[in-house]
Order: sequence, then structure tokens, then C-alpha cells
Amino acid sequence: MAGGDKSTKTLREVWRRAENSLCADCGKPDPDWASSTLGVFICLSCSGIHRNIPSISKVKSLKMDHWDDAQVQFLAKHGNAVTKSMYEAHIPIYYYQPTYNDCQVLREQWIRAKYERKEFTELGKQLLYTDGVKEGILWKRGRDSGQFQPRKFLLSEREGCLKYFTKQDAKEPKINVKIDVINATFQPEKIGNPNGLQITYLKDNKTRNIFVYHKSGKEVVDWFNAIRSVQFHYLKVAFPIASDNEIKSRLTRNFLKEGYMEKTGPKQREAFKKRWFTLDHRRLMYFKDPLDAFAKGEVFVGSRENGYSVQKGLPSGTQGNFSWPYGITIVTPDREYLFTCETEADQLDWITAFTGIINQAMTPQEYAIEAYFKFKS
Ligand SMILES: [Zn+2]
Repeated sequence: MAGGDKSTKTLREVWRRAENSLCADCGKPDPDWASSTLGVFICLSCSGIHRNIPSISKVKSLKMDHWDDAQVQFLAKHGNAVTKSMYEAHIPIYYYQPTYNDCQVLREQWIRAKYERKEFTELGKQLLYTDGVKEGILWKRGRDSGQFQPRKFLLSEREGCLKYFTKQDAKEPKINVKIDVINATFQPEKIGNPNGLQITYLKDNKTRNIFVYHKSGKEVVDWFNAIRSVQFHYLKVAFPIASDNEIKSRLTRNFLKEGYMEKTGPKQREAFKKRWFTLDHRRLMYFKDPLDAFAKGEVFVGSRENGYSVQKGLPSGTQGNFSWPYGITIVTPDREYLFTCETEADQLDWITAFTGIINQAMTPQEYAIEAYFKFKS
């Protein structure tokens, strides 16, 4: 609420402008907070992050707090469009701009990068690494011990690869992975650390997981964007005719869904076992434990026109001692896969995720992956 009647009216008008209908930082609709020092309209969740940077931003509720005339005039003069044109003037194309669905560390570092460090106000200010190399320590979860240990990681743009070393002075890396088979995704809950990052890569066409974190949110988000940057530059060379936006869509991706389901074996008479499932685009992987390094198995989920479908429920007469009541059947050209979910909400979420990819046509690369899965089975 604003001081005078005129001020209140102006505040409402500015708030109602189309440019201010989405949070300036995460895109959430209908923001009802604003920063009186930056002049942006933001959501409640982003206002909490702004509040932690009081030297840069003072946040107030548009509904509950008092706005004086000068503050209303400031908001009227700025607003999301003007402020973005300043603080988001030069965002590198590979830089990941989080939305309201993303985790805290990504959103907080995005806000700090914009307003506190002003990384995007000038061209070429964002330096994730120098001389084509980023080197540093990340705490990596041991495959067998489950303990996190400091490990030296090295990302090389020239070589187009990511390496890590078990000993500080080791000459040979423990892994040396080509950048185009890497995916990185923040997994704070699963890893049990707010800065937890899961890096997956393909080896012999099978998925491998490593779990890392750094106590500095800036450092772990810098690693994430550095991986995206190296991938971007690698793919630019590999696909010179692809547009920047096409290449951007091929950088790191979030998993479509994760969670527990029960599954049975190919005869469909085996006991159902509880497994952790990860749907990474068309790869449905299952693990005994969510933090396992290797999947126990992987299923390729193709497109409807190639004979893939998903159905609610299990085929009638399915035997086996499943304990969860909400069944899902995935039909592939070769066999049926039967799963059960604990809740109906879970069942619907999974079916929505599967339907989404089954309805998409397959790319040439995906035909090659499908052929590999068929050859293997
Ligand atoms: Zn927001």
C-alpha cells in the first residue's frame, strides 16, 4: 500500500504492467513483492534471497508494506524491463538461467551473479575459467564408502573433457570423460547437501553417476556453468551449421522424473522389487540405491510411431507379489515392462512423464541409441 491515493493508484498501475507480471528473477507469475532499490517485481521466494543481500536490495511486500511516493516513482521509472536490460545485458548463451522449479543454490547464485557481482552488465566480464581450463577441488562421494573426499577436477576446453584425480599429485586421472557424453544436474535432496551436483556420463553406452558438492554455492554453480560452456564450444565445432539455440537445448538437462517404483522381471512372474528410477530423457534407469554409481538396468523409451506406449494398470492376470497398488505398463516393440507405484499421484506423474517423451518423434541420434539397446538385449 502506498502513502497517498495518487501514489496507491500509480503503484497499482505499474504493478499491472505486462513486463511486471512475472518475477524478474525466476519467471513465476503474479509477483507480489518488489525491490525498492533495484526496481524489480519479484516473487516471495526470490524476495527471501534478496533479503540476504541487504547491501544491494531492500524488499517490500506490494500488498502489506508502506511505499512512499519516492519509492513508487522509482518503481515506475524502473520495473522489470528496464532493470533486466541493465543487469542481464550480456548473459553468455550457455549460462543456465534458473526458473522457479530450480533448486535454491541455482536461484541464489543467479540473483547474486546479476545484482551483487554484476557479472552480466559488461561484455566478457564472466570468467568461469582461464586459458580454456578450470581446475579445482570438489568433494566427491566414494562409490563404496559413501564418504565425501576432496578430489581434484579438471575441465579442459581444448581437450573437450572432464577429468578427476584420486591423489592430488597423481599423473593419471581416475576418469577422463568426453564433454559431449556428460550431463550435470543439481540434486540437493538426493545427495543430502544444498550444493549437491550429480554428474552422469556414458561409458560403453552405460550410465555412470558421480556425486559431488562444494561448500561454496558460487563455486559449484561456476563448475556447472563451466561444463555447459565447454559443451557449448565443443558442439559449436562439431555441428557448425546448428544455431546457437539448437546447441543450447543440447547442453545439460534435468531429469524428467525420479522416484521409487516396484518392478518385476521379463517373465512377469518374478517377485516385484522396489527400485529407484531415473528418467533421463529417453533413458529409464533403475538403481538399488539412489546414490549407486551404476544403474542395475536401463530401458529405452522410444516414440509412439515406433511402437512404444504407456498404459495405466498391469495386464489382467498379472501374478507376482507386488505390494504397491498403482500399476504402469510400458510397451516396447520387444516386451512389456510392469511397474507399480505407492500412490495414485505418483502413478499419474510417471504416466505424464512417459507420455511426454513417447509423443515426441525420435531424432537420428535416438534411433542409434535404440538400435544399441536392441542389440544388447
Ligand atoms: Zn522468483
